[in-house]
Amino acid sequence: MIEAFERLPGIGPKSAARLTYYLLHVPQGELDKLAGAISDLKRNTRECLVCHNISESDPCDICADRDRDRSIICVVEQPLDVLAIERGDGYKGVYHVLHGVIDPLHNIGPEEIKIGELIERLRDEEVGEVILALNPNMEGEATCLYVKRLLKNVKVTRLAHGLPVGADIEYADDRTLAHALGGRREY
Ligand SMILES: [Zn+2]
Repeated sequence: MIEAFERLPGIGPKSAARLTYYLLHVPQGELDKLAGAISDLKRNTRECLVCHNISESDPCDICADRDRDRSIICVVEQPLDVLAIERGDGYKGVYHVLHGVIDPLHNIGPEEIKIGELIERLRDEEVGEVILALNPNMEGEATCLYVKRLLKNVKVTRLAHGLPVGADIEYADDRTLAHALGGRREY
């Protein structure tokens, strides 16, 4: 068990041992539930053929939800980003999961991720805005540029780059501050 935990991302030998001993004190019923959930994880999940998010149904709950605004598509790198944005509870559009970003150093080109599917979607559906919500690193920037060039006749926006809530301007790094200034909005 300890060895199995150690193979998980972000878990070192100490945490693996702590988790294992913790589980020893968990009631058998809970353990069975956990074991069942792990064993069904791949069997019960599929990729939504609309947005390519990982879900228990196809189309996924978000794509199937009639209250979501289908004219706004938020493009993210991975399913975890959908979860993060959904936690914020302020977004009512739909998503498109690329399953990666363009990364020439690791031989990941535009064909390896779901860019073609996004373009197809824009052809088939009435979309008014595409929000590029990719990570602000080199690969994310390159992917934004690439996608932006392919998207014609649709408004393309990006997430604002700026200071985190509760941050001190005095301690912000130069690039964040420069981005925040560049992306300022009328008040
Ligand atoms: Zn979906």
